[in-house]
Parts: sequence; structure tokens; C-alpha cells
Amino acid sequence: MCTIGAAFSLNATYVFKNRDLSQKVLMDGPEIREGKHKYIAFPRPGGGIWFGVNEMGVGLTASDAHVTKSYPVEKDAGDKITRIYEDIVGNASTLKEAEEIMTGSFEKMIKVPDMVIVTDSRKACVYEYTPEKQAIVRRVKGCLLRANSFLVLKGVPCRKKDLSSHLRYERAREMIFKRISLAQVKKMLRDHKNGPGENSICRHGKKEGEYTTQYSAVAEIKKRVINVYYVGNKNPCMGEYEKIRIRRRGH
Ligand SMILES: [Zn+2]
Repeated sequence: MCTIGAAFSLNATYVFKNRDLSQKVLMDGPEIREGKHKYIAFPRPGGGIWFGVNEMGVGLTASDAHVTKSYPVEKDAGDKITRIYEDIVGNASTLKEAEEIMTGSFEKMIKVPDMVIVTDSRKACVYEYTPEKQAIVRRVKGCLLRANSFLVLKGVPCRKKDLSSHLRYERAREMIFKRISLAQVKKMLRDHKNGPGENSICRHGKKEGEYTTQYSAVAEIKKRVINVYYVGNKNPCMGEYEKIRIRRRGH
């Protein structure tokens, strides 16, 4: 239940996520792993990764999709999905290759809705997925943002009362449209408008079952280097972003 996006500035491409959960879950920090390409991985226990970027500049971020229709519970759906994310980040050299892995794997294996943003340094796409229908929208400038509602997939009713998604999406848009920079992305991920509470981008759930931001990550894909900034196991407003970097290849 997250706020995610990709955005282009003159000198960098940004991919980011606030990971919000309704229960406290301790997560491991980022690791450098090797697939076909070297990549920075944010691991999910028992599964693949929930966020990552590789040395070719392919980055991935994702969010649960709230829809009205209920789908049969599949215990290992989260593991399967995050392994597909890892396959993409470990092996794709371009957005085109990432899309081929993503659409092929999802349509074959995944039986629940999901929403993924993938980017290389030049182009980004958002994939709105249900087993019945899918949509892809691409951007080469500006930004792509999502909270937990589909915005382009037609005929898939979203949960009507998802006020939090609506408010977080509108606030993210307002802030990122104003300026696209690392400082602005971090500022947006720490933003408390409409809160601090369930409805702010930096989420502070107060009651049982309300969502709190537990991890925040921003990948900055530059010409020669890739920096990932992260705040782990607390709200991003409660600590400084730490940094991990890899050298860029293949530009
Ligand atoms: Zn906060």
C-alpha cells in the first residue's frame, strides 16, 4: 500500500517508493547482487525483491492495486511476484527487455492484480495488471506516479473509499510537477500534508490496521553512476537517507 513513481530531470532518472505496511515488519537493508547484470536489491524475505536498480539503469518499483473484485487467495503470490521483479532487475538491459520479461511472466503466472513502474534511463512505463486485462503507459519525460489505484486500466472498478490513495497521488503529483530533483523527491516522500496519518505520503497509521511507511527508497540513475538513497525500518521523516552506489555500465 505504497506511493511509487519514476521521474526524469535533465541529469538523472529517479525511481522511488515509500513502502507502507499495516503491521511492523523488519526488513533487511539493500544488497548488491549479480544476475546478468550487477544490481542493488531490496530483498523480501522468502521471495525476490520489492525494489531494485541495475548497472544498465533499469529500475523497478511497485505497489498493490486496490480493486473491488476479490481474487482467490494464493499464499505464495507475493513470493512469485517479487521473484519476477528480481528477474527483471537482474537481467533486463533496457525498458523493452524489462517489459518482455514482465508481461510474459505476469500473464503466465500471476492471478492477482498488481501495479509496476519500470524505467531505463530514457523511458519509463507503468503496468496496470489484472489476470483479465492489462494496460501499459509509457513516458519519456516528466513523471509517472501511482498510489494504490489504477488510473488507465478501464473497466476494473477500484475500491471507492480509497481516499488515502487519491490524496497521496494528488499530493505527489503536485510536488513532483513543481520540480524534479533528488531533494524534491525526498521532500515528497517525507511529506505530511493531509496528515501526518494514513492519508499523508509519509504515512503514520494511528489505529490498528492503518498503514505506516516502513521503508523509503530512491534510485538516482545518472550517466556514470547509480545512487540509491534509503531510510529503513522507520518513517523517512525520522532519519537521514543512507546511500549505496554502483557504477553505471552500457551507456
Ligand atoms: Zn512522517
